[in-house]
Amino acid sequence: MRAEIISIGTEILLGSILNTNARFLSQQLSQNAIDVYRQNVVGDNVERIAESFQSALHRSDMVISSGGLGPTEDDATVRGLALFLNKPLVFHRPTYRAIQKRLSKRGYRMTKLIAKQCYVPKGYKNIFQNLNGTAPGILCEVVINRKTKQVLLLPGPPAELEPMFLNQFLPRLRSLIDKPSQTFITRSVRLADVPESQVAQKITDLLRWKPPLTVGIYAKPQEVEIKIMAKASSAHTAQKMILRTERILRQRLGEKIYGIDNETLSSSVGKLLIQKRKKVATAESCTGGLLGHLFTETAGSSSYYLGGVTAYQNAFKVSFLDVPEAILKKYGAVSTQTAKKMSEGVKRRFQADIGIGITGIAGPGGKTSNKRVGLVFIALSIGGKTAVSKNLFLGSRADIKMKAAKKALNLLRLRLLAGK
Ligand code: ATP
Ligand code: MG
Repeated sequence: MRAEIISIGTEILLGSILNTNARFLSQQLSQNAIDVYRQNVVGDNVERIAESFQSALHRSDMVISSGGLGPTEDDATVRGLALFLNKPLVFHRPTYRAIQKRLSKRGYRMTKLIAKQCYVPKGYKNIFQNLNGTAPGILCEVVINRKTKQVLLLPGPPAELEPMFLNQFLPRLRSLIDKPSQTFITRSVRLADVPESQVAQKITDLLRWKPPLTVGIYAKPQEVEIKIMAKASSAHTAQKMILRTERILRQRLGEKIYGIDNETLSSSVGKLLIQKRKKVATAESCTGGLLGHLFTETAGSSSYYLGGVTAYQNAFKVSFLDVPEAILKKYGAVSTQTAKKMSEGVKRRFQADIGIGITGIAGPGGKTSNKRVGLVFIALSIGGKTAVSKNLFLGSRADIKMKAAKKALNLLRLRLLAGK
């Protein structure tokens, strides 16, 4: 079954809101083995909405729209659909009663404006009452070229759309899919600190695979996600296809892979720290506490993350982290030597097993004749040894900070994997 999504709203076209409904609907449909062929966005305009329904329904078996069901003049979805169907709008009493009941429970009264939402195209009575708002959803069957097609109109606010889709539409959708239902399983394999192009080069053959088993690659800041998608008649078969592919990826990419699905760099480092019974403390300058934030994004991190010092001004690198003034004078705050002293200082102060020090130039200002924006030193002090990595990160200030913090997590991960 082929589906299309129409997101309705001038707000989306203007870029004032992010089209998260399309993402939600696409995810839900693909999980139910329905192929989404297009996502369309159209403003609040009756003619253009009618046109969108028309072209989408000629191409696909199912069209789901979101938004524009409210009571105001700019809410034009139902009128657009009625125009395309060439049906008048008629009053739907059960909807009126349902809305009235909901309103009176909360001490409100029906208004003329709200009552406008009780009109549906003539002949269509498949209405989903809105349990989290007023605008009802409408499900229609339309015959085009002798094929029956489904149209579903959902309200725009995600808090209304999502439960309506899940609780009121999904059970019907499942009964509509009459062929032995296909299972669709995906798995994300996550990699850190490796360029997308390098990953792509190692898996060019996999990237060419066609359904039912496909492999996609997506770049994230300082990370790469490889998505495996398998479709099969049973969950067991789809799972086997996924596992076989994951094994190939692990053979080719090894320790670049830090986690699967919802795992984050932070949670996978956390797991290793627990396994190795190591406690860590951080000394941050240019990342301003971002590394500490990433550590503490993982629930339960108090068992291995002791805390940190954000020492932005040099004086506090000296007073809180015991970086010798002479080092700062001789090599500067952004240097191998300072990073090293920061990591050793914080390790000692917190009595940690591991100290991490980060110092760099996040930009856009601050470069000197021999130190460029994006230059970041990351020191890792474990046991009696300190290793310092010198990096040159590209991007905005926010990018450089995030890349530095994630690189620090990944250095620690690799060190824990390798070390005793
Ligand atoms: P209402 O009765 O609230 O007017 P509606 O069905 O008419 O609901 P819209 O007027 O199109 O929906 O949008 C109402 C709000 O819902 C928007 O301001 C926005 O917050 C949210 N919304 C609408 N469309 C989307 C979308 N595609 N993705 C995420 N949020 C959306
Ligand atoms: Mg509206």
